[in-house]
Amino acid sequence: MSREAEVLKILLEMSREISSQIPIRTVVRRLSLRLKQLLRADECSIMILDDGRKELAFSESSGLTRWELQNIRFRVGEGVAGWVARHKKPLLIPDCAADERFVAIPKQKRPMISMICVPMLIKKRVIGTVSLTTRVPDHVFTEQELELAVLLSAHISLALENNRLYEISVSDGLTNLYNRRYLEQRLAKEISYARRFRKPLTIVMTDVDFFKKLNDTYGHQAGDEALRQVSDTLTAALRDYDVVARYGGEEFAVILLSTPRGRGASTAERLRQAVEDIEIRFRGQKLKVTISLGVASFPEDSDDPDELIDLADKALYEAKRRGRNQVCLFEGTHPGREKRRPPVERRGSY
Ligand code: GH3
Ligand code: MG
Ligand code: MG
Repeated sequence: MSREAEVLKILLEMSREISSQIPIRTVVRRLSLRLKQLLRADECSIMILDDGRKELAFSESSGLTRWELQNIRFRVGEGVAGWVARHKKPLLIPDCAADERFVAIPKQKRPMISMICVPMLIKKRVIGTVSLTTRVPDHVFTEQELELAVLLSAHISLALENNRLYEISVSDGLTNLYNRRYLEQRLAKEISYARRFRKPLTIVMTDVDFFKKLNDTYGHQAGDEALRQVSDTLTAALRDYDVVARYGGEEFAVILLSTPRGRGASTAERLRQAVEDIEIRFRGQKLKVTISLGVASFPEDSDDPDELIDLADKALYEAKRRGRNQVCLFEGTHPGREKRRPPVERRGSY
């Protein structure tokens, strides 16, 4: 294939990947690998600018060692990447050893020969750099390769920016949890997956008890701090792949994947206990909060996402009615306190 055809093919593939559902790390890894292959480089690495610290750190690389990835950082203005980030200009270095901007890292084994470094720009703001290097003597990048790198790096910045905007659109600013919109979309997807693969799923709705009183007594900022701590506690008490969201003001929703009703109920009880145990420190004061929880499960209670949330909400209301700081299953079963609960009915292969 001619190089032009190869470039067009790669550009098309890149656009497809950017608009796909593939996780951003995978997208960036694939894009950098393509760029490396196209330019026949020995390494391609992507550094992301930490705006607060004014420092570039590696996010992805194909070719660098783990040590290099974790330990090399450049301040803006420092090294080749730092120069590119400061001047917002792409750079082609034919001979690294002869370039005063190049900072040699003693632990790097093979010397670098030639280097291309391109800024990733979003609306004239630098978000990072893309670097390509050769390690074979006499392998020097060309001006045409620099142009290609600029073109393809624009796609990488676009993928990163799309992802950043997406993250903002699905998260809650105060707690950093997912927001209601994400939870509802995700629940619909997970229910169809659970139906297809005959997996159970449990939803837990929870609401902070007497939260208005906490706000009234200690102020809104204390309330905000309590919400942050409750959300951190819920996240820490769950598995990585469970989904936790801030559903509304002081309401949270949890999707427990592959979790049947009985195990969902004990998880809810664990969450209740974990929140009860937190000591919230706010301006020298120690505050306590509790939560009430409602549980509903697929397939026993419903196979409709909206209805499942509604039923968990009804169970939550029942937990409030019974005195708060407790878990209720839809239909009023009460796992936390009832010692001799009849066994959960099992249907089919669930
Ligand atoms: P219950 O036990 O029945 O749930 O009582 P409650 O006081 O928690 O319930 P209510 O719905 O009356 O009050 C919820 C309060 O949550 C009212 C609202 O001001 C507060 N709230 C909602 N969002 C936020 C927020 O982001 N920060 C703070 N500090 N408070 C919030
Ligand atoms: Mg409340
Ligand atoms: Mg509420």
